[in-house]
Parts: sequence; C-alpha cells; structure tokens
Amino acid sequence: MITAEESFCWTGPFDLRESALTKRFILLDRDGTLIKEQHYLSRPEQVELIPGAAAALRTLREMGWGVILITNQSGLGRGFFSRADLDHIHLRLMALLREENASLDGIYFCPHLPEEGCNCRKPLLGLVYQAVMDHGFDPKGCVVVGDKACDLEMGRRLGGMTCLVRTGYGRNYEESDPHLADYVLDSISELPVLIKNMEAT
Ligand SMILES: [Mg+2]
Ligand SMILES: [Zn+2]
Repeated sequence: MITAEESFCWTGPFDLRESALTKRFILLDRDGTLIKEQHYLSRPEQVELIPGAAAALRTLREMGWGVILITNQSGLGRGFFSRADLDHIHLRLMALLREENASLDGIYFCPHLPEEGCNCRKPLLGLVYQAVMDHGFDPKGCVVVGDKACDLEMGRRLGGMTCLVRTGYGRNYEESDPHLADYVLDSISELPVLIKNMEAT
C-alpha cells in the first residue's frame, strides 16, 4: 500500500510523477541552435537570437511544451569567461526572449573541459538527469534539438526524438552524416510545425 506522501516521493531520475505523464519537454542546445554561433561567446552584447527562435519558443509553450536549455560551456573551464559573465549572457538571452513574450523553463550548463571526465558534458546525460529531477518528466518523451553530433548523441542515449538544425555547425554535420538525426530543420523556427505534425499522427 502506497501512502499519498510516498506517491509524491522523488526516488530517481527515471521515476515518473504525474506531471511527467502530461508535460513534455524540448531539450535545446544554445550556441548555433537558439542563438547565433560565436566562437566562445563571452559578452552579453554578442547574444543574438536565431531569426524566428523566440516565436518558435512562444508557440511551443502555447502547445504545452516546456523548453530547457542544455549547453556545454567549456569556455568557463578554459578561463575564457567567468561564471558572472555566463550569468550576464543568460540574463541577456532571457531579456531578448522576454521582449518577444518567450521564455525558457531552465538553463543547464556544463562548465568542464572534455578531459576532466565529468558526467554532465554532452553527450553524457548528467544535465538531463538534473533537469528531470527539477522538472519531473520522462526523458524518453523529449525532443532534443542541436547543431552538433554531441547534441543528437545525447538525444539518442536518452531515447528521445532528435532534430538537427542547419544553423550554427549544423550544415557541416549534415554533410558528414545525413542520418545523424531523426529530422533535419533549416532552423529552430521550423520546430513547432514539425511537432504539430508529429502530434497529429
Ligand atoms: Mg551548438
Ligand atoms: Zn560537466
């Protein structure tokens, strides 16, 4: 017999709470996917949304989807920018989205260098586990969107649907392996239509 209290007890990343059965999430890459790729972006003024990105996020929210940013930021570990710089970059990003009535449910970043052997650098799932614990959803129901192989590999590892965008480094990855993702989009602006079609079938 499970008590009411126990039924709300969070026991692990793959446990499903009631919210997990209804709310689904997009796991979005940042650089080259939501904002324009800049080599180790380090200042808030450099943040520029991909055209149509804010409108896409707004539509996805109206469709009932949550949107979470999952981003590798090894520039932090390399000393190219500080934690304060990164916070300012994300505040600027949120402000740009807010101007267009869009927002994110969370931002999760890996600050480590590849050689540090952390468990949160994409394609590893550490950041996704963290997001699952914070928001309570089934990772297998996620749609993962990114411009690099590591984004899509992360999506495959968690059993979600994968979308490669042709912005950022996406075109290069598409040329090197056309079957890298379940779907290829010109940009994130096409995501709501893809998901609408997916939901309709
Ligand atoms: Mg990227
Ligand atoms: Zn990490």
